[in-house]
Amino acid sequence: MIALGIAIAAVILFVGTGGTLMPQIVRAWFGGGDAPNLLLTNAVLLNIALLIFGWRRYKDLHTEVEVRRVAEKRARELAERDPLTGCLNRRSGPPAMERLRSMLEGTHREIAVMMIDLDNFKQINDLNGHQMGDRVLTTVARRIRDALPEDGLLARIGGDEFACAVPFDYNAREEVDDIVTAIIRSVSAPIESNQMTVEATISIGVAQSGGNFAVQPEADADALIHRADIAMYHAKKRGRNRYYWFEPQMEDELRFRNELEAGIRRGIPAGEFVPYYEQQIDLETGKLSGFEMLARWKSPRYGVVSPEIFIPIAEEIDLIGELSEQLIRQALEDAKDWDPSLTLSVNISPVQLRDPWFAQKLLHLLVESGFPPARLEIEITESCLHENIGAVRSIVSSLKNQGIRISLDDFGTGYSSLSQLRSLPFDRLKIDRSFVSELTGEGEGKALVEAIVSLGKGLALPVTAEGIENSDVLGQLKGMGELKGQGYLYGKPEDADATRNRLAALGMLTQAQHVASEGGSVAAIEQRKAG
Ligand code: C2E
Ligand code: MG
Ligand code: MG
Repeated sequence: MIALGIAIAAVILFVGTGGTLMPQIVRAWFGGGDAPNLLLTNAVLLNIALLIFGWRRYKDLHTEVEVRRVAEKRARELAERDPLTGCLNRRSGPPAMERLRSMLEGTHREIAVMMIDLDNFKQINDLNGHQMGDRVLTTVARRIRDALPEDGLLARIGGDEFACAVPFDYNAREEVDDIVTAIIRSVSAPIESNQMTVEATISIGVAQSGGNFAVQPEADADALIHRADIAMYHAKKRGRNRYYWFEPQMEDELRFRNELEAGIRRGIPAGEFVPYYEQQIDLETGKLSGFEMLARWKSPRYGVVSPEIFIPIAEEIDLIGELSEQLIRQALEDAKDWDPSLTLSVNISPVQLRDPWFAQKLLHLLVESGFPPARLEIEITESCLHENIGAVRSIVSSLKNQGIRISLDDFGTGYSSLSQLRSLPFDRLKIDRSFVSELTGEGEGKALVEAIVSLGKGLALPVTAEGIENSDVLGQLKGMGELKGQGYLYGKPEDADATRNRLAALGMLTQAQHVASEGGSVAAIEQRKAG
């Protein structure tokens, strides 16, 4: 401003002095007058210098201001945009959505906020590298943006989480359904990079700001994002490539789930998780052949909790490995003095098979307890076959090399193909109880069980039937061949003490235990063991 002032003042001065001096110079030039006034000439020269200086300074400052303005704009963009995908980011997304929402207030339109989460992003990153991970994120962002209307907003809220806001007519919620469906369809198309192809699936939760379908009072963008997040979580629980609109009871479910999660975190170090044992019987002879260890949570708050409730949560919060290790350690300890003819089966989650150290950890537990590997069987479900099969195979091979046996649990429920079934060296098939329980019914249960039994024969795999609840079912199974079986007909799973009592009654505890229960000294037991 000052530089500009100086330049302007210099111009005025120049006009004033130059106006008098110039005619004198012109006249002197053509020889028609006196030499120009020296003082005035110096003043004009000084004035010109001032003019040039002022102008230069003004130009420099102007350039400087321009550079700063561009830098500030860039900094703002960096602060507001996600550098990888170019979307709005966690900071700028919600306020932009709030502006859009309040702009629509009082009109017949409102906004729907969607939370979109990639289901399998960690796996994509782990298996294909971060470059592929970045490629997936940019492609997914582009595909979502393409499916949004012109006035829609897209923000990347977390690593693999996007939030969108779209205006829609509150009488036409199906407009949003169409957009969501289009997003799911386009995102799940294969993504290629460097001759690799991956498929990303997403879960979406949607919440609307007000209008006719409002389930709760008008909410601001932050509240909408929160609700959409809850609905997204709900969608995730129910499988991939799904979407749900937010409903208030979802919030209660989530609160309960968070309480369970906190309970599990506390319960593991507190030793609240204990092994129960279910008998496994040779159906031909009726003799006990071993036990399947089934986890129970003895929660001070909820009582005895089923593994169907806490295992999926432990998997999700990445505590399944720790929990399972603790249970197996306890089970190996419990099983130490069982009769040596008895086997111990333990269930292993697909999540555990992603741990490259899993085999080592299990072998370490066996060494620690002195339990013979040949008496241990691990049960894995068909979903393991959809994991990174190479990694699973290498874990399974090292376990088998140590003599541990592998069963395919819940067979028939996971849609595995025959080639997948042969991709791992299983030692046993376990027919899921849903088929076994249908054996006596009208349905196709019998044909299915027969088919699985003959598949087992064809592949030279022994078969166990789960969920035998009555003698009719048992009778039918006995007619199908040499099977093992388990189920409530033989008794429900029991804790370690009840199992020990059962074994003691059957005379199936080792000598050491008999001596111990009769009050034999620890030294004597140790001596016998050493012998
Ligand atoms: P699973 O491995 O298929 O275990 C058999 C389930 O069927 C057990 O349920 C058992 O109590 C139940 N069951 C057995 N016989 C009968 C019967 O005659 N009728 C009926 N209705 N049910 C019967 P549970 O103990 O609730 O375990 C459920 C599932 O939780 C198990 O299915 C297994 O997949 C999983 N699980 C249990 N313990 C663990 C564990 O330590 N780690 C992992 N990863 N999963 C576990
Ligand atoms: Mg099992
Ligand atoms: Mg099973």
